[in-house]
Amino acid sequence: MLDCAAPMTARILDGKSLAAATRTALKDRVDALVQRGVRPGLTVIIAGDNAASKVYVRNKALAAEETGVRSRLLEYGNEVSEAELMQTVAALNADPAVHAILVQLPLPKQIDAARVLESIAPAKDVDGFHQANLGALLAGRPGVVPCTPLGCMRLIEHAGVQIAGRHAVVVGRSNIVGKPLAHLLLQKDATVTICHSKSADLAGICRSADILVAAVGRAKLVTAGMVKPGACVIDVGINRLPDGKLAGDVDFDAVKRVAGWITPVPGGVGPMTIAMLLENCIRAASKE
Ligand code: NAP
Repeated sequence: MLDCAAPMTARILDGKSLAAATRTALKDRVDALVQRGVRPGLTVIIAGDNAASKVYVRNKALAAEETGVRSRLLEYGNEVSEAELMQTVAALNADPAVHAILVQLPLPKQIDAARVLESIAPAKDVDGFHQANLGALLAGRPGVVPCTPLGCMRLIEHAGVQIAGRHAVVVGRSNIVGKPLAHLLLQKDATVTICHSKSADLAGICRSADILVAAVGRAKLVTAGMVKPGACVIDVGINRLPDGKLAGDVDFDAVKRVAGWITPVPGGVGPMTIAMLLENCIRAASKE
C-alpha cells in the first residue's frame, strides 16, 4: 500500500562518483595521446594569498596528475603587476608544450582580470572565459565551454532528465556560470529563464522550473517552497557558514523532500567542474 504521508526524497546527483568515472575515461584518452607522443600540459597561474584559491588550485593539480595531465603552478605574490602576468601568459601562449592555461580568480586588486583573461590564446583558454569562446557558445559554434556549466549539463544528462521542451530556470547571470549554462540549456532545446538580483517574484519563477539551477552565492536562498515537486535542482553555490561548514545556495534538507533530483554541496557540481577542466585540457592537447 502506498504511504501518502511518507516524504518524497529526491535522487541524489552524485557529482563525486560521476567525476571519478569521467576521470577514469579521460585517463584512457591521455594514455592514447601519450602513445602519439603528446602529454597534455596545464599551467595554472595564481597570484596573491587567497586561501580558498590555493585549495582549489591544489585540488586541480592533484586531479590533473592522477589523470596523466602534466600540471605546472606559477605562483605570484600580492604585489605582482598586470604587465608581469601578461608577459607570462604571452610566453605560455607561445610554448607548444602548454596546451591549457588557467588563471585562478580572483587576482589582486591592482590587476584588471578581464585584460589578463583576454590575453590567453582562445585555444588554450581551458576555463572558456575568453570572449572568443563565450561568443562561440552564444553562436552555437565550436569553442571551449566553461567548466562549471559543462559539469552541470553532464549531471543533468547523466540523470536522464529530459531537457528539450522543459522550463529551465537559472538563478544567477555571471559570465562564468549563469549565462553560459543558460545557453547550454537553450542549445538542448529547454525554454530558459535567467533570474538575478533584480528579478521580481523569484520564488514564483523558480516554482515553474522543471530544471532549477542556483548559481548565486547566498546560502540556502532556494527554499522548499520555491521548488516544483519532482524538479531537477542543481546547486552551484559554495558558501562558508559561520560554523565553518560549506553550504550551497539550496536548502538541501528541505528541498530534497520536494525535488526529483538534487545535487549535494559538497560532492555535486564542484568535482564535475574539475573533471571538465581536465576534459577541456585533453581536448586542447588533442586539437579537437
Ligand atoms: P557572481 O558572479 O557573484 O554572480 C552571482 C549572481 O547571483 C549574480 O547574477 C547576481 O545578480 C545573482 N544574485 C545575487 N543575489 C541574488 C538574489 N538574492 N536573488 C537572485 N539572484 C541573485 O557569482 P558566480 O561566480 O556565478 O558564482 C555563484 C556561486 O557559485 C558562488 O557561490 C560561487 O562560489 C559558486 N561557484 C561554484 C563553482 C563550482 O565549481 N561548484 C564554480 C563557480 C562558482 P546580479 O547580476 O543582479 O548582481
